[in-house]
Amino acid sequence: MRYSLSVFAFALVLAGSAAAQAHAIDIVEPQMHIAKGGAKGPQVALTLDACMGQTDRRILDTLVEHKIPATIFITGRWAKNNAGALAVMKAHPDLFELENHGLNHIPPIDSVPTMYGIKTAGSLEAIRAEVQGGADVVRAQTGAAPRWYRGATARYSRDAIGLIEKMGYKIAGYSLNGDQGASLPAPVVEKRIAAAKDGDVIIAHINQPTRSAGEGVVEGVLALQQKGERFVRLEDVQTSETMNPVS
Ligand SMILES: [Zn+2]
Repeated sequence: MRYSLSVFAFALVLAGSAAAQAHAIDIVEPQMHIAKGGAKGPQVALTLDACMGQTDRRILDTLVEHKIPATIFITGRWAKNNAGALAVMKAHPDLFELENHGLNHIPPIDSVPTMYGIKTAGSLEAIRAEVQGGADVVRAQTGAAPRWYRGATARYSRDAIGLIEKMGYKIAGYSLNGDQGASLPAPVVEKRIAAAKDGDVIIAHINQPTRSAGEGVVEGVLALQQKGERFVRLEDVQTSETMNPVS
């Protein structure tokens, strides 16, 4: 954590005059990697967001069938309507690490009113309620407090970063955007994910069963497994993170 903070500070200094612009909205987008696999061979972390809506069983069933571990970020909103999928995840604790994606999928931002068209929390108080509410849902489901939080839109105001870390949670960035919010067609998603390198943290979505993107997640992940990449969960590896200012 000390590492990520110092990198953050360094990035701000480096940004120089751009920092002034970044300060205008004061938002960061964390980029995160896991440690490389070393002698064990290349490794990647598959992280899947369950923002709201339903469950993409194409993805979930493939992970179970092929014994592919993943870190799933769930919201309270999603958990309410997906008891069946949660039961599958909880029945395979060796595969699935459940972490916090917030109570209501509200971006943890207090400096602008919307992000990607989604209304932001707007205040530190609302950010705290969103993060704590999501943590309570994970605890209710797993019996243990989450270690990681990933906010809706994966962007944060700098105030929020400080608050979330003070609350005791690590902020989960990523290094490879697999599906752009499940908006990309399957062949593109497959190609992106299949290109993951040793140390990458892949982000994709497991809550859009009717979109083409999910099929690409399945094919991309299977291609990686075939190439000999090992899948690890965030709780099982060292991570490093850079807080990139968004201008
Ligand atoms: Zn989300």
